[in-house]
Amino acid sequence: MKTKADTISAVATAAGEGGIGIVRISGDEAIDVAAKIFRAASGQKLQDAADRRALYGRVVDFAGETVDEALVLVMRAPHSYTAENVTEIQCHGGAMPLKKVLALTYEAGARPAERGEFTERAFLNGRIDLTQAQAVMDMVRAKTEGSRRMAAAALAGQTAAKVAALRHEILGIIAHLEALIDFPEDDVENLGTREAVAQITAVLEKTNRFLQATHASKILRDGLTCAIAGKPNVGKSSLLNALLNEERAIVTDIPGTTRDSIEEFIDVGGIPLKIIDTAGIRETGEKIEQIGIDRAKTHIESADMVLAVFDASREFDAADEKIIALLKGKNVIALLNKCDLPTVVTVDMLREKLPQAAIVKTKLKFSPDDKAAFSAEESLATLVTALQEKCSMLDFCSEDGIIVESDRQEYLLRKTKDHLAAALDAAQNDFGEDFVVIDLRGAWEALGSITGETVTEDIIDAVFAEFCIGK
Ligand code: GDP
Repeated sequence: MKTKADTISAVATAAGEGGIGIVRISGDEAIDVAAKIFRAASGQKLQDAADRRALYGRVVDFAGETVDEALVLVMRAPHSYTAENVTEIQCHGGAMPLKKVLALTYEAGARPAERGEFTERAFLNGRIDLTQAQAVMDMVRAKTEGSRRMAAAALAGQTAAKVAALRHEILGIIAHLEALIDFPEDDVENLGTREAVAQITAVLEKTNRFLQATHASKILRDGLTCAIAGKPNVGKSSLLNALLNEERAIVTDIPGTTRDSIEEFIDVGGIPLKIIDTAGIRETGEKIEQIGIDRAKTHIESADMVLAVFDASREFDAADEKIIALLKGKNVIALLNKCDLPTVVTVDMLREKLPQAAIVKTKLKFSPDDKAAFSAEESLATLVTALQEKCSMLDFCSEDGIIVESDRQEYLLRKTKDHLAAALDAAQNDFGEDFVVIDLRGAWEALGSITGETVTEDIIDAVFAEFCIGK
């Protein structure tokens, strides 16, 4: 059984070789545990170390043998990550020294920390709310600058503050209606309920705006799977090269988490694009072309978004039509490429064939050697804007948007919306204040679960089980 009173320890840095590696200890006994296995060069006892100062010395085992050189940082409650006593032992960042130091902390009285337990303690001790705890994980996993900014805003408490403000508004409506229940004679003309209708409508609208951010938040968190489609020679490779240029390619390595994988994303205007296998796009010839179409079909099916490339300088043909047929019902940005050449295909023609697509005119010829070839930069800027619009990034950036960090939060926002819609219905149809209040309370509680004010222990455990050890 884990209890809050235990002192816990774990390696807080990533696996692999590094300049330094950190073992973090948290709990009442954190300083005593570290003191048992650390000898300061100055001879000073760790218990006497000044708060948030580092001591240099050696980690020793129980036979007195030196394990590694180290710096130990002492942070006393409540001025630490967990708001408990915390010590951090910074030793060399290799697997063996860290394993040994960690084992010694167990011998000295700590127990292994569970996934996310440090952050869970920060939450249980009231230093952060659940939206900020979630933001810690989003920060660690951020794939692009946009993802990092989203996490930083939530970490700073922006989501928490907006949710709290909405809860406060709902509570105000509840108080107002409850006064009417207690003193019905004050509301002969039913003015109170009519006022409530307007207030609930306003709160419902805000909730809807929050929900609109779900899509963008999810993309920033998980990335957008993207396929590049088009018949041979339209400029697919040129597009990919242009996207990959300017060192946009980044690798996200997430060891020790629930997603033990290395995934590659291209940062396009802050949106993490995961381009699915575009191998074979240079193949030509009739048979191979058919294989190409089949492959494109599979890619298009599994993509969240398709960048479909067409050649503006050549007449539409059967191959283009085949691609268009594959794009039915998909989220598409169509690139009308080679617009520098005399064009025979127009934006209007393309729009007629792909009414759901955003269409951008591009010139993608890209050659670092050939000075006469133009740069694709301008075309990319147009593409980025179209992409951001398609992903509703613009909504997300607006002032009244919030960051929806998890499926759990999205579910709770939907629940809030349903309760508010029911409350509105009850108020509009004069079902009585009692009924309205019941649903308003439901909405208030669902919002409280987002910040963690009204959650049960098993939900808290489930949230933190998604974290990695040492977080
Ligand atoms: P893919 O077969 O669809 O991958 O097409 P590529 O990217 O290999 O491009 C085919 C040819 O068209 C190459 O010679 C490119 O340099 C050229 N090309 C690509 N985009 C443009 C463009 O916007 N304008 C012009 N004039 N040529 C382009």
